[in-house]
Amino acid sequence: MRETVIEVEELVKTYGNIRAVDGISFKVRQGDVFSFLGPNGAGKTTTVEILQCLRPLTSGKAYVMGLDVTKKEDAKKIKAAIGVMPQEFRGVERLTVLENVRLFAEIYGRGVDVKTLLEKLGLWEIRNKLFDKLSGGQKQRVGLASALVNDPEVLFLDEPTTGLDPTARREVWHILEDLKKEGKTIFLTTHYMEEAEALADYI
Ligand code: ATP
Repeated sequence: MRETVIEVEELVKTYGNIRAVDGISFKVRQGDVFSFLGPNGAGKTTTVEILQCLRPLTSGKAYVMGLDVTKKEDAKKIKAAIGVMPQEFRGVERLTVLENVRLFAEIYGRGVDVKTLLEKLGLWEIRNKLFDKLSGGQKQRVGLASALVNDPEVLFLDEPTTGLDPTARREVWHILEDLKKEGKTIFLTTHYMEEAEALADYI
């Protein structure tokens, strides 16, 4: 059986009187594309930020790759081993595609060969284009490239194709399909059932 990459048990997060996350439990296995669905305010962002070690939990347990998000030393290792793409990735507008991805690669200080990564994402041909001049789909692909510079085992994507036209969506899905084939675990946050379904069908 594939190993468990994310394990959440009875997770609770409160902000004062607000119970943002109310005792959820789930497991994600290696190579899964896990869709985390819920309406606005359901606590998705809070849960994901706990898994990314950006926020403390109130009670319950959360492990990423067997590491405990509440332990400082583990949190460091988790951060180094995950990739995160925010909903609307914002690159540096006055830098090119290549410069943007290199910048992320330098921040991480280790990882994949940038040329190979850009080729894989269909960005090598447009590597000298300014971020500012890219289409929505191309910007999202730069976001994906930036999330992949450390060759992460787990990739967190926040509504990766929302707002994209059908062709651009399919391009992103193709890339996710390839990443899944490589054995990456993909944690997708969305409030669109259609996106979760489409991606599940596609992949
Ligand atoms: P969205 O899709 O809109 O991002 P979500 O499902 O990600 O929604 P959260 O952002 O996790 O939901 O918010 C869950 C609840 O916790 C909401 O009621 C929100 O107002 C509240 N909340 C989130 N962050 C804070 C905070 N820092 N302080 C107080 N309340 C917060």
